Amino acid sequence: MSRFFTHLEGAWDGTRIAKGTLCNTHEGRPIVARYDLPALKKALTRDEVSRRQGGMWKYRELLPLAESNEPVSLGEAASPLLACPRLGKELGLEQMFIKDESILPTGSFKSRGMTVAISMAKELGVNKVALPTAGNAGGAATAYAARAGIECHVFMPRDTPVINRREALLYGAHVTLVDGLIHDCGRIVRENAAKEGWFDLSTLKEPYRLEGKKTMGIELAEQCGWSLPDVILYPTGGGTGLVGMAKAFGELTELGWLEGEKRPRFYSCQSEGCAPIVRAFSQGERLAQTWENAQTCASGLRVPAAVGDFMMLDAIRASGGAAIAALEASIPGWMRKAASLEGVPLCPETAVCLEVLLNLVRAGTIKPAEKVVVFNTGAAQKYLECLAEPKG
Ligand SMILES: *Cc1c(COP(=O)(O)O)cnc(C)c1O
Repeated sequence: MSRFFTHLEGAWDGTRIAKGTLCNTHEGRPIVARYDLPALKKALTRDEVSRRQGGMWKYRELLPLAESNEPVSLGEAASPLLACPRLGKELGLEQMFIKDESILPTGSFKSRGMTVAISMAKELGVNKVALPTAGNAGGAATAYAARAGIECHVFMPRDTPVINRREALLYGAHVTLVDGLIHDCGRIVRENAAKEGWFDLSTLKEPYRLEGKKTMGIELAEQCGWSLPDVILYPTGGGTGLVGMAKAFGELTELGWLEGEKRPRFYSCQSEGCAPIVRAFSQGERLAQTWENAQTCASGLRVPAAVGDFMMLDAIRASGGAAIAALEASIPGWMRKAASLEGVPLCPETAVCLEVLLNLVRAGTIKPAEKVVVFNTGAAQKYLECLAEPKG
């Protein structure tokens, strides 16, 4: 284990759990990793980090893997922070950026979580993993498991986009199609894990995918000269991206690496076809009810029930942001607009964010001069079903 990684902690009640323990949840709720940040602060400066080449693994001291262990990696590069002036003009914004995670291995930001989770699984002696997926997590898990020589079992809804089914098979995983949604798949993993000897890699049901997602926030801060934008829009499903970034900003603050006091407002974006976090946010709840009949072509957002719901809702509220849903019908138009105006292959999940953004600018909640960053969490090319056939 990394020398600064001190222990694990129950996210709900702060129960301390020894590091090195192979664990999933504490009383059914997520477990997070904690570090000796005062010691890290003495040992490392942000300038030293900035001088290092490469992507997320350059933040090793803030990750749990032992420094003597090679990460299970596919060469994750830092994702570009792209200025999008034409799209910005369309939206009424002067400083509009997209952080394009579609360039990461397997075409989505899920690889950030999986490179850390699989590296830790290997360090802890795991040889079989299993997970439910609504789409891209399956591709990333199976690729990194193959890279590590670990057996991988994936459970996905029968109507998951065809590319996600085929990529998991391509990487040699055991794929089971389930008549149901991701939480039904999760139940199968949970019920069979002990019997089959699988380590459960479900979102926020092991502590380390979150640590990988955290690097999105660290990387963004570094790219902005160790400061942060005014507003972040993030398409929210299971919530590791949002919660990971909030954790990153907290840790960077403790390290004293961030300029100024300003922290971004998080806008968590969902489709009206599956918006449990939006509903809980607007009702003032800390836990979200399961969303019935979840339907959206943004498969990464088709998460009717998230075990990290309270972590997302806490992070959104603490930031002064909100959780907002957009019309499903707006998705194809925003995918075309981002691709044709800026050359960015927007996934449908992020198309949802642009519709939310337009509404927030129109309402005056986001001001024209504010610096806005939208995360493109995946590549449009992975969503054949959402791409229109060319005419003629
Ligand atoms: C998984 C996924 C999401 C949702 O991310 P969370 O961090 O689980 O909330 C959004 N977009 C894409 C493309 C995804 O694959």
